[in-house]
Amino acid sequence: MNSVCVVVLVMLGASGHSFRFKDLTDYVDKHQDHYVQALRDWVSIESDSSDVSKRAELQRMMGVVEEKLRGMKGKVDVMDIGTQTLADGSVVPLPKVVTAAFGDDENKHTVCVYGHMDVQPARREDGWATDPYNLTEINGNLYGRGASDNKAPVLAWIHAVEAYKALNVELPVNVKFLIEGMEETGSDGLNALVEAQREEFFSDVGSIIISDCSWQSSRPALTYGTRGNCYFSAQVEGPRQDLHSGVDGGAVIEPMSDLIAILNTLISASGQILIPGVTDAVANFTEEERKIYEEVDFDLDTYKSTIGVDGLMYNNKVDLLAHLWRFPTVSIHGIEGAFSGPGTKTVIPAKVTAKFSIRQVPDMEPAVVEKQVTDHLHAVFQQRKSPNKLKVKMIIRAKPWLADPKHALYEAGKRAVKRVFSVEPELIREGGTIPIARTFQDVTKKDIIMLPIGGFDDGLHSQNEKISRYNYIEGTKLFIAYLHEHIGSQANNIRSSSRALTGS
Ligand SMILES: [Zn+2]
Repeated sequence: MNSVCVVVLVMLGASGHSFRFKDLTDYVDKHQDHYVQALRDWVSIESDSSDVSKRAELQRMMGVVEEKLRGMKGKVDVMDIGTQTLADGSVVPLPKVVTAAFGDDENKHTVCVYGHMDVQPARREDGWATDPYNLTEINGNLYGRGASDNKAPVLAWIHAVEAYKALNVELPVNVKFLIEGMEETGSDGLNALVEAQREEFFSDVGSIIISDCSWQSSRPALTYGTRGNCYFSAQVEGPRQDLHSGVDGGAVIEPMSDLIAILNTLISASGQILIPGVTDAVANFTEEERKIYEEVDFDLDTYKSTIGVDGLMYNNKVDLLAHLWRFPTVSIHGIEGAFSGPGTKTVIPAKVTAKFSIRQVPDMEPAVVEKQVTDHLHAVFQQRKSPNKLKVKMIIRAKPWLADPKHALYEAGKRAVKRVFSVEPELIREGGTIPIARTFQDVTKKDIIMLPIGGFDDGLHSQNEKISRYNYIEGTKLFIAYLHEHIGSQANNIRSSSRALTGS
C-alpha cells in the first residue's frame, strides 16, 4: 500500500463512511406505506392553532411528535413558551415547543430542522372533496389538512434520520429538531424562545433548515427568499347598536360605508399601492435577479388556468414573478361584524372591522409601514367628515427574509437535488411569509436554507390541500441526500474562511 492510498483511506474514514445512498433509498421505498400511515395518523389530529377550542388537539399533536422523537432515542426537550391572551382578555397556554438532538459529535457540523405541527382551519363544508382530517389517497395524491403544510415535510425529516439509524449508517452531521405549534397564527412565543436559547440550544447549531414551502413547478426548487407581512385591522364604530334599514337607514353615516371607502384607497385596480411612501424603501430589481427569474419554469397560461382566471395583472413571466416574490402588495381579507349569512337581512352593522395585510420585502421596515398606513387611513377618513370612530391597529409585523443562492448551503442543496432527481433545482422565492426565518437570521446569526418538498399545486391553506406520494417519498430521499451533501458544504466553508484569513 503506498502513501497515496493511505491518504485516500484516511479521508474516507474522516467522513465517517462511504455513502450508502442506495441502501438508504431502498429502505425508504420499502417503508413508504408505513410513512403514509404515519402521515394519516398525524393529519387526523385537528391541530388548528387559530381556533382556541382546538387547543387540546394541538397540545396532543405536540405530544405525539415528542413521543415519536423520544422513540427514536433523540435527546428530547419540551419547552414551555408561556401563554396567549385572547381578544376577550382570557389567557390560554401556548402549545409547548418540542426539540430533539440526534448526535452530539463536536467534530461534526450540526443542522437544525425547523417545522410546525399546527394547521390552518378546515371544514368539509368549505369545499373539501374529502374529509380534511382523514388523509385520502386519490391518483397518487394524499389529501388532508396539513399534509403538505407542514406535517409531511416534518415526517420526511424524521424518516430520513430514522433510515440512517435503522441501517446503522452514521449520521454525517448532528441533527437537531425544533418543532412549534403556532406557526399559522404568527409563531406566538417562539421569538422569545429563540432569544432565550441563543446560547443554549442554538450554541452548537451551524445552520438551520426550513422545509415549510413548495416548489414553483414540477421541477424541484430551493427557496432563497420570502416576503414578510404587516397585518392590520381597521375598525369603524358608529351607533351604539345595529340598526335596521328602512327604520334608521339615512339617519347615520353607516360604519360599513366608511370602512369600504377607506379600504378602497389602499390599492389601485392595476395593483399599484396607493398608501403614500409605502414602496419608497423597496430594493431595486437587479439584472442578476431578472436572470434568475428567467430560468424559472413558469407558464402564465398554466398559472391562469390553475387559479381559474382569464387575465393577470402582468403579462410576462419575469414581471409576474417579481410581483409575487419581491414587490409588496396589499390584500384585503375580511370584515368582521358585517352581515355575512345567506338571505337579505337589512341590518346596518354598528361596528365593523376590516382585516388587510401588506406583504413586506427588503428594505421595508414594519414600524415605518405601520405609521404610513395609520396616517393614510386617518387622513382619508377625516376627509369624509364622519362622526364615527376609526381605530387602526397593526397586528402582525413579520419581516422578509433573503439568502444568497450561491451560498455553500445552497450548493449542497443543488447537489442533493441532482442526486435524487437528476435535474438542477430552480432557485425561487416565496410570496408568502415564514416569519421565523427572519427571526432565526437576526437572533441566531446562523445560515439558513429553505429546502421545500411540497408540490406547486398542493393548495397550502386552501381546500383540498394535498402532497403527492411522490413528493413525500422522494422528498425523504432528498433530505437523506442533503444530510450527506452538507459535509461538502462544511468543507467549502472551512476552505473559504481559511482563504479569507490568509487574505488570498
Ligand atoms: Zn407552514
